[in-house]
Parts: sequence; C-alpha cells; structure tokens
Amino acid sequence: MSLFTAVEMAPRDPILGLNEQFAADSNPNKVNLGVGVYFDDNGKLPLLECVQAAEKAMMEKPSARGYLPIDGIAAYDAAVKSLVFGAESEPVTSGRVATVQGIGGTGGLKIGADFLKRVSPNAKVLISDPSWENHRALFTNAGFTVDTYAYYDAEKRGVNFDGMLASLNAAAAGTIVVLHACCHNPTGYDITAAQWDEVIAVVKAKNLTAFLDMAYQGFGHGIAEDGAVIGKFVAAGLSFFVSTSFSKSFSLYGERVGALSVLCADKEEASRVLSQLKIVIRTNYSNPPIHGGAVVAAVLGNPELRALWEKELGEMRVRIKAMRQKLVDGLKAAGVKQDMSFITTQIGMFSYSGLNKDQMVRLRSEFGVYGTDTGRMCVAALNSKNIDYVCQAIAKVV
Ligand code: PMP
Repeated sequence: MSLFTAVEMAPRDPILGLNEQFAADSNPNKVNLGVGVYFDDNGKLPLLECVQAAEKAMMEKPSARGYLPIDGIAAYDAAVKSLVFGAESEPVTSGRVATVQGIGGTGGLKIGADFLKRVSPNAKVLISDPSWENHRALFTNAGFTVDTYAYYDAEKRGVNFDGMLASLNAAAAGTIVVLHACCHNPTGYDITAAQWDEVIAVVKAKNLTAFLDMAYQGFGHGIAEDGAVIGKFVAAGLSFFVSTSFSKSFSLYGERVGALSVLCADKEEASRVLSQLKIVIRTNYSNPPIHGGAVVAAVLGNPELRALWEKELGEMRVRIKAMRQKLVDGLKAAGVKQDMSFITTQIGMFSYSGLNKDQMVRLRSEFGVYGTDTGRMCVAALNSKNIDYVCQAIAKVV
C-alpha cells in the first residue's frame, strides 16, 4: 500500500496523444495536421528573423538573470498594452489597463480565471461549443462551473449566430463569457464585425463579463484587423479581460510568452486590480521567465524589427490562405464531389473539415494523415510537398 495506490490514471491529452501516435507511425508519407502549430513550406517550424535579430543583439550585450518583477518586464507589458489597445488609445493613455506578463496565453487565461474566482466566486463560465479543449479544463480547475454557448452549425458550415445570441441572452448577469477574439479554434469560423456589435450589445445589456482569448492575432486578416474587436469592446464602455499569446505570432511556442490585460474603469481601479493579479502570480510561480518576454519586447519596441515581424507574420498568414485554396482545388481535382469551398471561408490555422470520426480514423490508419477525431485539421501544417497526398487521402475516405 503506497500513498498513491488510489491515484487513477488521468486520460491522455487528446492532441498530445495524437502526437505520440504520429511519432510512432512508420508511414513515410505521414502528415501531422493534429497540433496547432505553423510550419513553413518545407515543413519546418520557423525561427523568425526578427526573433533572431533581437536575440543576436541580446547576446552581444549579455545581462545577468535576476528575478523579474511579479508582473514581468515593464517594457513588455507596455508593448502588449499598445498592441492590444493601441498606443495612443484612451485606455492606455489614461492608465486604466492592468497588464501582466503570463506564461503563454494559457498562463494569461489562468491568471484571469484565478482572479475572477476571487471577484465573482459564484459566476458561471460559458465557452463556445466547441472550443479549445483547455478552456473548459482551465476554468473548471479554477473552481467554476463551465457550460457552453451555441457556436458551430455543422449543417450550415458556419456559426449558429442566432443560437449564440440566444445562449448569451439566456445567461445570468455576471456570467463570464470566453470569446475567441479571432481565428476560432477549432472550427475556423469567426463572426463578422456586425455580429460582434450584436454580441457586445448583449454582453452590455445582460451585464456579462467578456474574456477575450487572443491567441492568433495577425493570422486572420492582419494585426490591426484582428485586433479591431478590442476597440469595439472599449467603445461600448465595458470592463473586460484579454489574454494574449505570442506562441504562434512569434513562433515562440516553447518560450511561453503571453499576457493578461484587464480593462478597468479608471487608473485607480487598475492599480487595485494589478495588485491582486500580482498576488495570483506570486502564489503560483512567483514571477515569469525572462527570455521570451525580452525578445518580444525588443521586437515590438524597435521600429525596424517590428516592421520585420509584421512582414514575417504576414507571410505566414498569406501562406495559410494559399494552402486553404490549394486544399479546395486539390480535393476537387482528386475527385471529391461535394463542395469544399467552405474551407476558404474559414480563417486562421484550423479547419473543421466536416469529416466524421470514422473518416478521421481511416485517414490516420490507412494514410498516416493525422487530424483530431472531431475533423479538425491544422491547415498551417500543409505545404506544397504534402498537399497532394493529403487531398488524395481525404478523397479516398469521403
Ligand atoms: N487559446 C487558444 C484558443 C489556443 O488555441 C491556444 C493555443 N493552442 C492558447 C489559448 C494557448 O496558447 P499558449 O500556447 O500561448 O499557451
């Protein structure tokens, strides 16, 4: 009898489990469309030039590694604020945004969730149906009851917007609503600017708390375009949360660079909120790591490097869009009769392909093409070498 005799085996993370299966697959043509990672046309994880330039400059002037402040690098937090709200925006100039460095976007969400549990202990959390797997687990672990709002319409191949509004309208005052700011994961379907206005009107009328998850800024229509939704929430006079991830937009997955920003009523309120966010951080991991945040701050704070980042991010965005079109064309050429053009109406890294579980299992076992059982495929992992093979494989299972 050991202390851990009664400890049960936890279920495997579905995505990481797929990765292990992929690694063990001996099929020479195998393609991993399971994970949410951007690969270049050679199938390589990019190391952005802007990142390399920033790191080179840092290496030339090595610095000692003392502890960072609890809320992270000041220049980093300032850069995040400017990126999210606009450098000259009223929330930034008036000082009513509380921003802390986070350990990836996940860390930003977690700090926000733990803080919200102190502020609104009895609130319920609503996530989209479906959503990024970790949203439910993360808010559940923070002590909340998590439910869903309607989102995906499988038949229509798009967003069930009436259903979404109905879910939000039915929510109790104070309900925390987790919204994908852009590039919805897993479906690839975003709501339009006009629909955002309607969502914001309900959030305001019903007194809901919006938590915007911004994990793909720049992967949709552009940095400013994808960020425009934030301005809409500001204009509505709401207080809200934004988590930021630079994992994808800087291809800095393993550095764990993210942030949490909370828009408050005024500067004094923001300083009280910041003080509480710092307690959450202090009691979890004390203070964040230096390297990733320093790189992002250096790039965003230097006009030349920032322009280079925008160019490189733009190239990733354009390549994904081209792959979507190639996928639609390739499926047609491979003999798929059904109209697959919905793939080009989706945005960001993911595509809900409409394939069912049996078809996804066949894709894996017969062709070594890995996506999730829900039919989600990462189009950012397609390239000019694997696209034909993937199209042929899909054509054989549909
Ligand atoms: N939110 C969403 C919607 C995501 O897809 C991801 C990453 N897969 C995250 C948050 C977490 O990002 P990070 O890896 O920076 O923690």
